[in-house]
Amino acid sequence: MHKDIATPVRTKMILEKYGFSFKKSLGQNFLIDTNILRNIVENAGLTSDSAAIEVGPGIGALTEQLAKVCKKVVAFEIDQRLLPILEDTLAPYPNTKVIHQDVLKANVKEVIEDEFSGIEDIMVVANLPYYVTTPIIMKLLEDRLPIRGIVVMLQKEVADRIAAKPGTKEYGSLSIAIQYYTEAETVMVVPKTVFMPQPNVDSAVIRLTRRKEPLYPVISEEFFFTVTRGSFVQRRKTIINNLMSSLPNGKEKKDMILTALTQTGIDSKRRGESLSIEEFAKLSDTLYPFFH
Ligand code: SAM
Repeated sequence: MHKDIATPVRTKMILEKYGFSFKKSLGQNFLIDTNILRNIVENAGLTSDSAAIEVGPGIGALTEQLAKVCKKVVAFEIDQRLLPILEDTLAPYPNTKVIHQDVLKANVKEVIEDEFSGIEDIMVVANLPYYVTTPIIMKLLEDRLPIRGIVVMLQKEVADRIAAKPGTKEYGSLSIAIQYYTEAETVMVVPKTVFMPQPNVDSAVIRLTRRKEPLYPVISEEFFFTVTRGSFVQRRKTIINNLMSSLPNGKEKKDMILTALTQTGIDSKRRGESLSIEEFAKLSDTLYPFFH
């Protein structure tokens, strides 16, 4: 057995050996607690027939735990300085591969096809760089990858918004965008002390299980997201007022929006936070012909 990377002592040794200094701008907060890492991996439900995509392996703390369980792990790392370190720390795990690339620019689908042929169960598992959590999750979902789901560490505040239900103050366009594609649940709240350096915010691990089909397939996802975002521009305003100011101008706009609300059975005085995803989907489809 190899000594785990994710202990404070081993992590410090590795960083010192390579003279590595953390880049705040790249969201570098490394995990130094093996129990937390094992817990993350457990929550992903992986087996020896599974494969994992990791975003931002750092010095390989999570990559190592994934490699112990999965058939294969491919990790995208943006910081070139980490490549020689990963080559060293991951040497005992031939089932790992590091790709030096910004995950936001990567063709992840192609990588999955090339690297995971014959593997059916694929999960994304990561301790995400906090400056880009939402763009990374949205990219992975919008790319429609052949994955079972995503288990990631992120800011607790963002996890709360992602998993929020209608009628709560956290519920908004982010909850809707992500729950449209997945079932979302927070599986763990994590203290700052398990990171090096410690982040300024609390963290949580969230599990997103991809739906076979989007929750309520809409005519246009782009317009659906325009309507949902537009309905939360000013949270205290009614749905009609928010849509009046956020939707593009058109002839008799107010009448059209009111007609669509009536047709979908939504009281125009309600606020966006009270509408379910299904209601937003129906509203978006009813409004669509008026604006196209
Ligand atoms: N997985 C390691 C761990 O848990 O200790 C490191 C996690 S650290 C929070 C985030 C990692 O993502 C860093 O290694 C950082 O360099 C990398 N990173 C930041 N932005 C990235 C991007 N756009 N694409 C790929 N990796 C990125």
